[in-house]
Amino acid sequence: MKRRVALQLLSGLLLGSTTAPVLAAARARPGPRVGVIGAGIVGASIAMHLARAGARVTVFDRTGPAAGATRNSFAWVDPWTLDPHYQQLRLRSIAAYHGLDRQLGLGVVWGGYIDWGASDAEALDVRELARTLAHTRFAVHALDAAGFRRLSPAIEPGPFAAAFYSPMDGHLDPVRVTGRFLDVARRHGADVRYPAEVTGFATTADRLAGVVTKDGVTHVDHVVIVAGTETPRLLAMLGETLVLAHAPGILAHSAPTGVVTRMVYDGPGGLEFKQMADGSIVGTDSEQVPNLPQHAEIREHAMDFPTDALRTAHGERILGKLARVMPAAKGLALERLTLGFRVLPTDGLPIVGALPAIGNAHVVATHSGVTLAPILGHLVADEVLHRRLDPMLAPYRPGRMLQPAAGT
Ligand SMILES: Cc1cc2nc3c(=O)[nH]c(=O)nc-3n(C[C@H](O)[C@H](O)[C@H](O)COP(=O)(O)OP(=O)(O)OC[C@H]3O[C@@H](n4cnc5c(N)ncnc54)[C@H](O)[C@@H]3O)c2cc1C
Repeated sequence: MKRRVALQLLSGLLLGSTTAPVLAAARARPGPRVGVIGAGIVGASIAMHLARAGARVTVFDRTGPAAGATRNSFAWVDPWTLDPHYQQLRLRSIAAYHGLDRQLGLGVVWGGYIDWGASDAEALDVRELARTLAHTRFAVHALDAAGFRRLSPAIEPGPFAAAFYSPMDGHLDPVRVTGRFLDVARRHGADVRYPAEVTGFATTADRLAGVVTKDGVTHVDHVVIVAGTETPRLLAMLGETLVLAHAPGILAHSAPTGVVTRMVYDGPGGLEFKQMADGSIVGTDSEQVPNLPQHAEIREHAMDFPTDALRTAHGERILGKLARVMPAAKGLALERLTLGFRVLPTDGLPIVGALPAIGNAHVVATHSGVTLAPILGHLVADEVLHRRLDPMLAPYRPGRMLQPAAGT
């Protein structure tokens, strides 16, 4: 609530006779109209927080909920980064997830995380990461090989140099959680439209007046652009240039099997995996799409695998590696292989805030959006509705990444 409104209400209460009309007027006043462009997990969380706080929200997605990076995400909720400030933001988001999970039944699997390395070089990385939470109230526990097996009997780690266990990490189904956020937004009056591609903006002087789709102009008081890898294209319509890194990533999903672990694992050679609540095992063996000649186009452009054979080869290779450390994965069929494109600012940090040149437009573009969705939803809604600038977001303002458009 704006400070002035709060003071008016308080003065009405003190004057007694005017209390009822003032309260009624405050209740009846419609909230601002906010357009949210993009129904990924971050856009959905922002829409939910805005709608719950009284905004009249319209969500536009060119395809449908979770159609972008969200659908193809590993969806690990984690605090891990070497940047102390960014780690604080992540920790606040994890705390917010616990509250939302209890309220909304998001189905987050709070099973913890094991990071382990097989070589001396990997052991250094493991210990450096563990140290980022030293001196906080969040414990991480160093593990030797015997401790690893006791804690995690479903995994056979093989060659072993160092490991730690973090109890705080979780993982989730990103499509389901996005759907839950949008359900809540709808319950608070949000209009969620798809397919509804935003193709332009109606502007007046330095303000944005409306969002253009094939159905015409929807008038808004504020817009939040959270369109994943398409964000630069939307910003270009407003005369701003943003360059994101091109960062494809693949994940193999097995057929379901009996649940043997709730943890997220980060093993030697970039092997990351988890078991979903439905029993399927999801994993990858490299941060990027492997550097092979057949991948030249994928590495350059956001496109799908050129052949099914290539897709199957990647999937079977990844499941083969998983089966070597996780006996339960032996012989499991590949259900699908996903190729996703991360929303990755070039300095690796989130971009969150108002566009410097347009007072009523916000932009949010971030990697780790699954982890950050709750805190960004809360802070962005607060900023849009109450102009409250949380110092927590100071390092992530868009100005640092925007370049002047050519010719300006
Ligand atoms: C392989 C991979 C692994 C990942 N692993 C993790 C992880 O373990 N933990 C973690 O926290 N994060 C992870 N991430 C990152 C995380 O998934 C993303 O940061 C997050 O999903 C971004 O959500 P978003 O809502 O910002 O964008 P998106 O999910 O990309 O949503 C953007 C939406 O905008 C819509 N859109 C685009 N253009 C328009 C337009 N013109 N008009 C209307 N709608 C439009 C799209 O259809 C899309 O639905 C991973 C990502 C990938 C690809």
